[in-house]
Amino acid sequence: MNEQPSLQEIFGSYMSYKITDNTWVISFMNGSQYMYLLEGDEKALLIDTGFGAGNLREFVERLTSKEIIAVNTHFHPDHSAGNGEFEEVFVSAGWEIDAPSVSTPGMVPFDLSKMPYPDYKKNILKDNDIIELGNRTIRVFDVLPAHCNSSLFFYDEQAGMIFVGDEFEAGQVNLFDNSCNPNAPYDIKERLDNFKANALKIQSLPKLSYIFPNHNGTPIAASYLDDFIKLVDNIYAGTAAIEDKLNHKYIEMDPKAPTLCRVRQDKASIFINKQLMLSVYGK
Ligand SMILES: [Zn+2]
Repeated sequence: MNEQPSLQEIFGSYMSYKITDNTWVISFMNGSQYMYLLEGDEKALLIDTGFGAGNLREFVERLTSKEIIAVNTHFHPDHSAGNGEFEEVFVSAGWEIDAPSVSTPGMVPFDLSKMPYPDYKKNILKDNDIIELGNRTIRVFDVLPAHCNSSLFFYDEQAGMIFVGDEFEAGQVNLFDNSCNPNAPYDIKERLDNFKANALKIQSLPKLSYIFPNHNGTPIAASYLDDFIKLVDNIYAGTAAIEDKLNHKYIEMDPKAPTLCRVRQDKASIFINKQLMLSVYGK
């Protein structure tokens, strides 16, 4: 018997483990993707809501009995499609630019109008906002557009942990336009400059032990930032290593794949539109 797994099994099979006494990793998509649950004495912060399989809230409520505050690292389908399980969600002001990446037919494998709160309230988080969980303070950083237009970082200074969504990760950072919005602003130099500025900002934090991305391994060493900064510098210097072979099954299926290349620097790499990248290469 060869039974096909259901969509909910594929997109909504979660596994959780603790990385500190009050911090959970919730992994899904066969362990390649993560959400986080940060508990304070009074409240718990859920960082991202997954693909919208409809069974995340129930899973999280088994991990914590505290009031849950749901936030999005950014407004892409694998991070925010499950928002409708919650009455309200905290998002970045840039969410509207990236919203078509969730609402475009085919981007999400579930009918989000069937969620308990399809018209959930969106609360906008601003740079330096504080989320108080009770004896645990999380600072919000509004992020310059690099991976997307709607990223926020969540910084737990006391623990030296920063949650960065898809802006930095160990596999590769997608720096091509992935908004599904023809009117979204996208300037290659601005993206690269922002990407570097975001890395420098994290490096300047008073305390940093680990970086927590949402894909391809967590946590990762802060030294990835050095490589990403060098990567941008080497594009402008015209010395960065460009690879036409993407070596990524999922991205290779994307219609954009033939326009992309991988640029690598030490242990870090990015996917980017090759033609646009060459327009600033060595300049
Ligand atoms: Zn993602």
